[in-house]
Amino acid sequence: MAGSPVAATAPSPRVSPPGPGPGTGVPVAIRARPDGFVVDDMPSTGPLVDRFGRVHRDLRLSVTDRCNLRCIHCLPDEDASFHPREQLLGYDDLARVAEVAHRLGVTSVRVTGGEPLVRRGIAEFVARLSTIGFEDLSLTTNGTELTRLAPALAAAGLHRVNVSCDSLQADRFARIRRRGELSPVLASMDAAESAGLSPVKVNVVLIVGVNDDEAESFAEFARSTGRAVRFIEFMPLDGGGRWRPDLVVPTDEVLARIHARWPLEAVPPSGLDASQPAEHYRFLDGKGEIGVIASVTRPFCGTCDRLRVTADGSLRNCLFAHNELSVRKVLRGGGTDDDLALMIRRAVWAKLPGHGINDPAYLRPERSMSMIGG
Ligand code: SAM
Repeated sequence: MAGSPVAATAPSPRVSPPGPGPGTGVPVAIRARPDGFVVDDMPSTGPLVDRFGRVHRDLRLSVTDRCNLRCIHCLPDEDASFHPREQLLGYDDLARVAEVAHRLGVTSVRVTGGEPLVRRGIAEFVARLSTIGFEDLSLTTNGTELTRLAPALAAAGLHRVNVSCDSLQADRFARIRRRGELSPVLASMDAAESAGLSPVKVNVVLIVGVNDDEAESFAEFARSTGRAVRFIEFMPLDGGGRWRPDLVVPTDEVLARIHARWPLEAVPPSGLDASQPAEHYRFLDGKGEIGVIASVTRPFCGTCDRLRVTADGSLRNCLFAHNELSVRKVLRGGGTDDDLALMIRRAVWAKLPGHGINDPAYLRPERSMSMIGG
């Protein structure tokens, strides 16, 4: 990529693949159950691994599909539909899934939604998660309720937060969110830092013709605040169904533009970052860093170690998956922790080698981002 920093190669969190697979020239023999999940040769002990050797350590827990905003890339303005409350998992059930996942080797949990801070009792739930002993316990929020809740979340044992903020221009920010203002969200980042929820990361989705001229402004923001801005490519998961490939601002372009103003260098992944979707870059003059999540133009499926539980209790092994397994059925049907563990193993084992969204035959999943938990 001319004029851009070179991406550091992430070490893959792999164990030896258990058999034939992609790149071996040998087709994977798949015996699928009626629910679409394969069972052949699945290990019942050891690391939480899929058929391609990816060890899973990261759990995204969605505590609600509801949100107090209607961001244009996420939810439709009118007609946003949510699951009936009785279908949502209670905190006891969510905590139980987290405990079982931890037993299976999951080390990192992110609480998300919908908007997790609109669910009552969220700090108490975080306190419960924090007793499980995850190495990393984080939460993604739109920032509207964060100033109020940051002290309680920090006291509950939350480690850090990601705050979504897609424009630094007040009028544009309001148009993108359709509700709410910029200044309280910026203030919520200060409040999170004061409470000790650092580092604050700032999630930015750039969309062509909407806010694609703000890559440099956000880079400047990262440099002046020390916050790690993460540019996330617009994915075909918007509830309004407006996504088109030409609306995606390619990561290469974002990096090249910022690099031209303030030279960047790739930061080799390490520790908990090693399997994160974000690639990290630091400014050569030492003034901070940025991250990029190039899900569309540079998919990172080969190192994906994430598993998701939706607010209504479905296990998803990929943002773009079409098949799900219901932990809610296990939980409400009196299933044991071993039943849950088996279901989590099955969900991971069945993961496909890639999300396939660049395949012309790709069909988007029924669930949008807020229904999955981003
Ligand atoms: N309500 C919280 C928030 O706003 O951060 C958490 C849930 S939200 C679904 C999580 C992240 O997904 C946000 O950073 C949001 O911008 C991002 N997101 C939503 N729809 C997206 C899309 N179609 N493509 C890429 N990112 C998206």
